[in-house]
Amino acid sequence: MKDYDLTEVEVSSFAILTRAIRRVGTLTRPDLSRVTGLSRTLVSKYIDLALSLDLLEEGELGVSTGGRAPQLLNFNPSAGTLLISELGASGLSVAISDLSGNLSHVQSFSTEISLGPQLVLGQVESAFDAIIKEFKIKNIWGVGIGLPGPVEFAAGIPMSPPIMPGWDRYPVRRRFEDKYNAPVWVDNDVNLMALGELVTFPEKKSDELIYIKIGSGIGAGILTHGRLHRGAQGCAGDIGHIAISEKTDLICRCGNVGCLESIAGGIALARDALEAISDGKSKFLTLRKKTNKIVTAQDVIEGAKSGDKWCVDAINNVGNQVGRILATLVNFHNPSLIVIGGRVAAAGDQLLASIRETVFRRSLPLATRDLEIRLGVNDEFVGLKGAAEMVISELFEPDFLKQWINSGKPTQSHSHEN
Ligand SMILES: [Zn+2]
Repeated sequence: MKDYDLTEVEVSSFAILTRAIRRVGTLTRPDLSRVTGLSRTLVSKYIDLALSLDLLEEGELGVSTGGRAPQLLNFNPSAGTLLISELGASGLSVAISDLSGNLSHVQSFSTEISLGPQLVLGQVESAFDAIIKEFKIKNIWGVGIGLPGPVEFAAGIPMSPPIMPGWDRYPVRRRFEDKYNAPVWVDNDVNLMALGELVTFPEKKSDELIYIKIGSGIGAGILTHGRLHRGAQGCAGDIGHIAISEKTDLICRCGNVGCLESIAGGIALARDALEAISDGKSKFLTLRKKTNKIVTAQDVIEGAKSGDKWCVDAINNVGNQVGRILATLVNFHNPSLIVIGGRVAAAGDQLLASIRETVFRRSLPLATRDLEIRLGVNDEFVGLKGAAEMVISELFEPDFLKQWINSGKPTQSHSHEN
């Protein structure tokens, strides 16, 4: 390709132009000039660049408004390919994404995150390699990885993740950069689920979103102006370890006492269920334990749905405890939408009702005037979609774009000022 050698200001303008094209999909030169506020001459120069990068394709002629009909320009999502993976406590998924976030070749496997990074990331790479080989994937523009624990986003490394022995400070980004010669972004699963909701429901309300995941633990992803708020180190939203009780007999997996997730998370539900069985308080759970030998949070959810009193109370308690923290977040952050996801969210309307009741009772009237609280989209791959969105938005961030645009393709060497 031609060497365009854009200046920093020009890269920012080009970033605005590519964002407009990605959002709308199809535009004409006059449209682009109007949407971006750039002169016709500059728009022409950037369109030439986008065409030479295959980011744009010339389409048919559009509607004439008198004079020559303008040529339609289409965003070409196949210009680059992304490798996407999401890891959970007991499974992983991989997929390929185009530059519009359309996933393909989605595959899921059972694994145990506690087996450590060498083995588990080896499984991710084998899955990627098989897809790359079978479908002759070329032009890898980026890799997105979701992990079930805290991640220092700027460095792409997990930080003291409680359920991931051997992963602390493991260089996840570096490993994938070296292997695929592409830039890599790593984030925690809850942030990616929040992004996944945003791209699934790209409505105005989603721009100010708090996503709460209630799984074995509890975490939150926070969107503001449609972008993730990660905080200084990337651990914003780690609400599972906010102290809600002074009781010292409930030791959390983080080592502290009285954390939200040690009282209202899935692990806590399973622990309390065992106690309820030994105290003879739940017929449903006693029967479950007899049949399955073990009892899980899922049993409590099913017990509540079948009307077992102890289980109903336990789910209400989760709703109340989570709701109390959410009420504080609502006053502090003023979201327009709260989405409840994670496995415990399978408790459905009953959980939602008790969360709603607590949040609306304890938050400021102004903060709840237009607040919507709902369950997450029923899509097991919402985190994968979010991971693709993370890579796409980072690739086209002006600061990152300026590192790769003049060479025509993002590679490892452009990665994060390494
Ligand atoms: Zn804790």
